[in-house]
This record gives sequence, C-alpha cells and structure tokens, in this order.
Amino acid sequence: MFNPNLKPGEIVNNEDICRIFQCSPQGGMRRSKRTNSLVIVSDHTKAIYEDRWVNNILHYTGMGLTGNQSLSHAQNRTVKESTENGVEIFLFEVFEPRKYIFQGQVILAGQPYKETQPDIKGNNRDVWVFPLKLKEEETPGPIPEEVFQKKVRLREKQVKTLSDDELYNKILSVPRKSGVRKTITTQYERSQYIVEYVKRRAKGKCQLCGNPAPFFYKDGEPFLEIHHIEWFSKDGEDTLENTVALCPNCHRKMHILDLEPDKKLLKEKVKN
Ligand SMILES: [Zn+2]
Ligand SMILES: [Zn+2]
Repeated sequence: MFNPNLKPGEIVNNEDICRIFQCSPQGGMRRSKRTNSLVIVSDHTKAIYEDRWVNNILHYTGMGLTGNQSLSHAQNRTVKESTENGVEIFLFEVFEPRKYIFQGQVILAGQPYKETQPDIKGNNRDVWVFPLKLKEEETPGPIPEEVFQKKVRLREKQVKTLSDDELYNKILSVPRKSGVRKTITTQYERSQYIVEYVKRRAKGKCQLCGNPAPFFYKDGEPFLEIHHIEWFSKDGEDTLENTVALCPNCHRKMHILDLEPDKKLLKEKVKN
C-alpha cells in the first residue's frame, strides 16, 4: 500500500506530484514503478478529453492523442489490468492551469468501453473509456462554484468551433444521464440597512439604464437587485458608495462584462 499523505480536495502543483509519486511530470496517465502507482490526471481545461462524473463514477478517457486508442497500449493496459496487477491508481482533477486537486485512490468500477471522440486534429476516432470510482469516498470532493463556471465557459467556447454536422454528431452520443458535480458557493452577508437605503435611493429605477423595475413584488415593492460596484470577492466594501440597485438585465451585464464606463457611471450616480 502506497500512502501519498494527501487529503481529498488538497491542491498541489506538478512538482509535488512528481516528488510524492516519483512519476514523470507529463501526461494524463503517469506510471511510477518506484511507488507502484499510476497517477491519473483528469484535465477539464483541455478540449480533447471528455471526462465526466455520472452517479459518482468518473468516465475517464484513456491514453493516445491521435488515431484509435488501444486497450493494450501502455497505461490503458495498466488500468485495464489494475484488478490483478496490484498497481494503485490515484486521481487528480484540473480545473485551472497548474492546480491539481487530489481526489483520492480510484478503482475500476466496470469494464472499459469504446466511444467515439475527436482526436487532437478534430478527427473522430475510437477511444477507451474507463469507469472509475473512488475507493474511500462516496462522491468526488466539491469544487468552488466560480471554478466550475470557468470550466463551463471554456467548454462553451470550445464547442463553438464545431461545424453544424459535428455538433449534431456530438448530440447523438451525449449520455442521457447528465454529469453531476457538487460545488461550493461563498455567500456574503451584507448589511440589510444598506440594502434598504439603496433601494429607497433608487426610487424604483435601475441605476444603470434608468428604466423602471421590470415588475413588482406582490406587496407592490419594485423588483431591483442589489449590486456592489467593486465586488466583495475582489475586496469591495459594504458601503453606500459601493452599493447600487439594478434591473436584472443590467445586473447580469455587470457580472459578465463589468465594463469600466458602466462602473464609472454607477460611481457617479451614488456620489450625488
Ligand atoms: Zn438596467
Ligand atoms: Zn451583483
């Protein structure tokens, strides 16, 4: 039994992985003879692999960047034979470059199966997918909500490069059960006194576009959302000068674009 002395959820860098497991610094599957282990990296920032968790099982795409993958090739074989060969498999996930999140030891949860996925040049080819489950934990560790959203955004961009035919082909092979990931969100507790003051100050109008609130609550209060010009997550303060009331459209816009001219306008508005 090899013990890497890592806790699930612990974030390490590539050098740490090489030092702890005594494996190569490259690749998604890294075999170490010295620790008799296999390090598996599920890199969600890379377009080429479509690893996903379904019902607490990670469907992990094997080795081989171009052409059809082979089950007898290198580490694909190591995983396939891992029920007999005594090699222990440890899983890391990557959502942001250079941050490897340790998930724990994994074992095969079923037979490897074939699937069609594009290779690095965009040509469809056969890949082997390994169903893996965590040995100790029931579910994979949660990841920060913003990290998950970044990954979704990255995927959206990658999918945009597909032709209509490619896109339709993809849809045909989408598993009916969606992947599931638990995320951690941070809630900021803001002063209710400031919230109330800012709403009164806005007089039922969005402070960015100037339009009236899009609808009213049943009790007649105009619906506006509270926004902090400098975000709490970026050290913004819970003050009257940093808080505005916006319509839902403008609120989204601020969170997606956060344009300097808009911020300047809002800062001017709350000054007077
Ligand atoms: Zn607005
Ligand atoms: Zn906001």
